[in-house]
Amino acid sequence: MELSAQLAAKFEKLQTSYPVKRSALIPMLMYAQDEFGVISDEMVTEIARRLNLHEVQVEETLAYYSMLHRKPWGKNHVQVCTNVACMLRGGNELLDRAKKRLNIGNKEVTSDGIFSLEEVECIGACTGAPAMQVNYDFYENLTPLRFDRIIETLDAGRKPDHEPVTSGALHPRSPLEIPVISKRWGIPNSRKIDTYIQNEGYQALEKALKEMAPEQIIEDVKKSGLRGRGGAGFPTGMKWSFVPKDSPKPKYLICNADESEPGSCKDRPLMELDPHQLIEGMVIAGRAFGAHEGFIYIRGEYRYVLDIMDIALAEAYERGYLGKNILGTGFDFDLITHTGAGAYECGEESALMESLEGKRGNPRIKPPFPAVVGLYGCPTVINNAETLSSVPAIIRMGGEAYAALGTSKNGGTRMLCVSGHVVKPGIYEVPLGLNMKKFIYEVVGGIPGGKKLKAVIPGGSSCPFLTADEIDIPMDFDSLAKAGSMLGSGGMVVMDEDTCMVDMARRVMHFYAHESCGWCIPCREGTSWLMKMLDRFHAGYGTAADITNVLELSKNMLGRTFCALGDAAAMPTISIVEKWRNEFEDHLQGRCAYKNVDALLGAR
Ligand code: SF4
Repeated sequence: MELSAQLAAKFEKLQTSYPVKRSALIPMLMYAQDEFGVISDEMVTEIARRLNLHEVQVEETLAYYSMLHRKPWGKNHVQVCTNVACMLRGGNELLDRAKKRLNIGNKEVTSDGIFSLEEVECIGACTGAPAMQVNYDFYENLTPLRFDRIIETLDAGRKPDHEPVTSGALHPRSPLEIPVISKRWGIPNSRKIDTYIQNEGYQALEKALKEMAPEQIIEDVKKSGLRGRGGAGFPTGMKWSFVPKDSPKPKYLICNADESEPGSCKDRPLMELDPHQLIEGMVIAGRAFGAHEGFIYIRGEYRYVLDIMDIALAEAYERGYLGKNILGTGFDFDLITHTGAGAYECGEESALMESLEGKRGNPRIKPPFPAVVGLYGCPTVINNAETLSSVPAIIRMGGEAYAALGTSKNGGTRMLCVSGHVVKPGIYEVPLGLNMKKFIYEVVGGIPGGKKLKAVIPGGSSCPFLTADEIDIPMDFDSLAKAGSMLGSGGMVVMDEDTCMVDMARRVMHFYAHESCGWCIPCREGTSWLMKMLDRFHAGYGTAADITNVLELSKNMLGRTFCALGDAAAMPTISIVEKWRNEFEDHLQGRCAYKNVDALLGAR
């Protein structure tokens, strides 16, 4: 088969980029699909040949990832998100409109091959809901009219204007915000290296490499109180200190930029608006625990972000901030970007490493932990993009000064992505410990139309829901845990009084049933049965026994699965049933809190 010169060059580069060849498998499949529109049998054979794999190994990997497909889509693949943030702002209605406008159903292709349609899980555009992607282009804050215009333009063979920057990233700052890692957002050309250098960029790297021993870097990060921003909240400095110093094996650093938690879309602007901050943070982290190679694993939907990161990496190499003998200090560090291909589970660190090795994203049994046996069996640290982006500021200002921005055990600031029923959906950087109620009403503008707040997901759809009476609390890891929920990945979703909580439970479970990797029975079967029961209940065919069964089944999943996805599915469900049981009982009587959002969409 004939590859374009560009694709052939990409393949050649990928084949030699990784310590183990198979790691190139998923990027090669993605780029091949971009060129040919589909993964053909011939392409499977060609990639297998180039990577010294059997075709079955290629097939087993590609079958796992939702963005890779063996049947052709239309020239314009329209993907409409209906996950929680989009659902609350008209995602379902948008999908219905798309079906009517294109005259096709979900996962179908128009007869002329111009369009195909797919209902998708979260695409990382929560603050711009309702949103869709056409191929890799994002279209956010959609109205029916704007949707129609986009389709007409595509139909005419032209490319519509799409969102240049993550919606909600740029907005006037509230006095309650403290921009530390988002402080360069809004500066013209913020992603260029010169702009970065003119605005304190790479100063921390100079300091870390020339004035600090690796142990001092770790000590400063420990003092900063920085805790993992991906969801778990584990102390970052401590994580780095677990890497064995005397291991003869290479050590690796992985940036987890696969953010796929519904409600969370902050890693996207952190990379698209300030890519050098992440690069600087990664070089410093590598220096701290002795890694000389790092990988930035970026979710597959964020292709344009990957391109931005690649440009920034090239700039950093050219200026001597990456590569051999960085800043003349003798320290070497290489970084490459790596694309995911659509799998929420790959946000789990061991599943991510499997994926980075070119395999299905099934998690590994722990222990051993990645700090000892990680990527390619070598010591590995995996940190979230926000965590690593915070490192330069910590080194620049000193760990204690950074810690003082937050609370005693929760140092610094936190990115919060706020979506759903709020006046100003957006991405905000606030000090840890800020009161949630104050934040929602004074920073985010409260609830539209003067309606009452009913529920809040504080940190992504895995978190137990909070009622309106439970939000007068500080936003930090410990206070949220005390309130029975989590700060998670910072994806806050707010619901007003007209939200049907049975529908929310149903939609959340659809996501987890879709994303379960299927390895362990409580998660695979539990999420699937819960989804069916909640669908049936929401459709009006529920019984009183179903309420108890949903609750019991969810509780039986807790703590009985290989990875945290089982808990992530169970916890929000338990909270909804326990806190809004009255709505389940109302459904049995044919009553529902939901008010149609057509009026909201039509009014835009
Ligand atoms: Fe896979 Fe779910 Fe088990 Fe995690 S809990 S290993 S996602 S089946």
